Amino acid sequence: MCCALEMAVASAPRFDAQRFGVIARSTPRQVDILLVNGPVSKKLKPDLRRLYDQMPEPKWVIAMGECAISGGPFYGSYSIVPGVDQFIPVDIYIPGCPARPEALIDAFLKLQRMIKAKKKGLLTGK
Ligand code: SF4
Repeated sequence: MCCALEMAVASAPRFDAQRFGVIARSTPRQVDILLVNGPVSKKLKPDLRRLYDQMPEPKWVIAMGECAISGGPFYGSYSIVPGVDQFIPVDIYIPGCPARPEALIDAFLKLQRMIKAKKKGLLTGK
């Protein structure tokens, strides 16, 4: 939905997310990060979970925007899951409606720092 446009802008020349190594792929077999944006319908939930399960380890998840975090304006709807973390572990949350491209790039940099800290043994857990 609307957050996907912000995601597309992050890859456009003004923000150029590729310079941080962010390259969008459309297959779970070649990705490290699952970026969820927009509302997740209950119908989509099992497919999204399967997609996550097909990703190779190590893998991370970013929830971009209020819809992915909590259902956003659709919270309480009969058809929308109130947050992707109800069925997939989320590493980074990007608040906003919409979340801006700068926030998306910041999330990738935070994730890079988390991964480096984990490699050095400074972080525990997933
Ligand atoms: S969080 Fe807001 S901007 Fe993003 S998909 Fe939902 S309604 Fe659209």
